[in-house]
Amino acid sequence: PARPDLEALQYADVAALLPVPDGESDKYRRGVVGVAAGSERYPGAAVLAVAGALRGGAGAVRYAGPGADAVIARFPETLVHPGPPSEAGRVQAWVVGPGLGDSSAAAGAVSDALASDVPVLVDADGLRLMDAAVVRSRTAPTVLTPHAGEAAALLGVAREEVEAGRLAAVRELAARHHATVLLKGSTTLVAEPGDTAVRVNPTGTSWLATAGSGDVLSGLTGSLLAAGLAPRDAASVGAYLHGLAARRASDGAPVAAQDVADAVPAAWRDVR
Ligand code: AMP
Ligand code: MG
Repeated sequence: PARPDLEALQYADVAALLPVPDGESDKYRRGVVGVAAGSERYPGAAVLAVAGALRGGAGAVRYAGPGADAVIARFPETLVHPGPPSEAGRVQAWVVGPGLGDSSAAAGAVSDALASDVPVLVDADGLRLMDAAVVRSRTAPTVLTPHAGEAAALLGVAREEVEAGRLAAVRELAARHHATVLLKGSTTLVAEPGDTAVRVNPTGTSWLATAGSGDVLSGLTGSLLAAGLAPRDAASVGAYLHGLAARRASDGAPVAAQDVADAVPAAWRDVR
């Protein structure tokens, strides 16, 4: 039989991939996530990405950037560093981009994270600031998480063209960047280079169409990368838990992005 073009993870697939600590675990082995996000203009993006990473099971989160006060006020467990990612200490994965703005410090944070030898998730402003040639030449995995508008900008086409051909767009982005690509939207797709099936996330809900929900997804997926999941699994399990968490938090009513982050542990329990 022909290989399917599309596949969807089921509960049991996700349960088998969840990184559950055991007697040998310590915070470093569970995965340290670096978050380079937020700016004076968008301080909340840093908080939401850190929230996603902590609720996603990171052993520790290092935050690098100008938003340390806001992050610490909400999550005192965060290790904060005012400088660029390269000065923040060892991590197992970087999340870079949400709310970074477009200052020279923001551009520096993106190139700095991409110069590391660990998996890097690039979202939001990071997608605009990254050098595609650098992404392509990385040896450690890169995960890109654009929504349709960001995907269109990367491909140099109109947003409508992405919306009309989401499967082709996500495949093309993965091939061009040699990266795993999670294309957000009402049906979230995950593709990687080569001929593996594209994964469709079955848990999405339109209540996720709210400011900051993408920042939570970035942190959450970053925690799964730091725990050692393969990039395609981290992205698809991240999207799965994110959708389930939104359903848990919403139950048919509006949610704010921080409610989604807070409901990730409930989603996790549902899956296990
Ligand atoms: P962002 O565009 O970065 O704020 O991310 C928005 C998040 O909400 C992504 O995880 C999207 O997949 C999700 N989302 C946005 N609109 C919808 C929708 N209509 N149905 C399901 N999920 C959505
Ligand atoms: Mg976004």
